[in-house]
Amino acid sequence: MILTRAARSSTLLLLLGSSFLAPATSYAAFKEPTYKGEKVEVIDVHQHVGDAKTMGPLGKEFLYKTLPNWLPRNFKDWSLEAMANLVLKPYTPFFGVKRECLNAGLSMCGLMSVYAPLTWGTVDNASIESMLSDSRNRGPNGELWYFFGMASVNVHNFDSTAEYELLELRRSLKHPGMKGIKLAFVHNELPIDDERYEGIYEVAREFAVPVYHHIGSSPLRKMSDFKTDEERKKFLRSSSPLALEATIARHPDVPFVLGHMGFDFNREGFDFTDDVYRLALTYPNVYLEISAFGLANYDPEGKFMDAALRNLKAKKLLSRTLYGSDASGQPGAVAQYVKLTLKSMERVGFNLDEARAVMSLNARKLYRLP
Ligand SMILES: [Zn+2]
Repeated sequence: MILTRAARSSTLLLLLGSSFLAPATSYAAFKEPTYKGEKVEVIDVHQHVGDAKTMGPLGKEFLYKTLPNWLPRNFKDWSLEAMANLVLKPYTPFFGVKRECLNAGLSMCGLMSVYAPLTWGTVDNASIESMLSDSRNRGPNGELWYFFGMASVNVHNFDSTAEYELLELRRSLKHPGMKGIKLAFVHNELPIDDERYEGIYEVAREFAVPVYHHIGSSPLRKMSDFKTDEERKKFLRSSSPLALEATIARHPDVPFVLGHMGFDFNREGFDFTDDVYRLALTYPNVYLEISAFGLANYDPEGKFMDAALRNLKAKKLLSRTLYGSDASGQPGAVAQYVKLTLKSMERVGFNLDEARAVMSLNARKLYRLP
């Protein structure tokens, strides 16, 4: 999960006692985005729901900085909770995640389970399943599903819990709306290449679902937070595509989605973008996902997005590129991400078929969506 300035200002609005927070766009009929004058279906594979109560210490620390320093701690907690209840619940009228997605003209969205007790908190598989099974989980024309799910795994204490965790993963993937697995070792500060996690990829093969990995740094934890070289090296292994390479090679029949394409959100000189391209060119089971790095506070002029899309096209990787925003919880940002991506596609010369492949068709195929 990556938060931006939009989230900060909306939290502030709430704090200032504003009882009216205007929705980003009007509550109008569903409108599909267009590219070169034609309608383009958009599927966003990267959406989050959340709960301030389970948020970990690093997540809270990060969000506290978005609030005035003089506020008492319990008032900060209260405002974060109130905000999360408005914008990070799936079906809250006017502000919920589904409303934001519909405002953005998205036809389907991937909701991710999260096990990150240190950072963003926990949204377990069972809660995602209940959101998927909810009678409100229907598309703009009443079709099943609007949200599809990605199940996750609690990778802490895996030595003693692996058997239980893998059973739980299998149980969750039997839900007809669960279409993949999502892992984010960086939020758990655990090495991505630990062979104890092999069982997860075997489950992925069994259910024929892709495994999504957060690749690249996280704004919640800087390399400079670590004191020794050894600690830094270990932390780097939590989000490095190079650390994941042997696993990708060992499982040619499991699709791996490299989320955020190795972008360094902290600009500390640990950008993995080139490695991510190399992996995608070497291994046909590698897919790349373009979420978050295009957000205004990382890429105000669209330069990173332009470079990414230009490279993906030049390297003939567009049939393995997925659209996602990771912009949940920030009113208006989900719609903004669609717009900035389509604008960037125009600047770098995508044709209509290329835009359609990235914006929805690849996700439809990979996640076997109805
Ligand atoms: Zn995320």
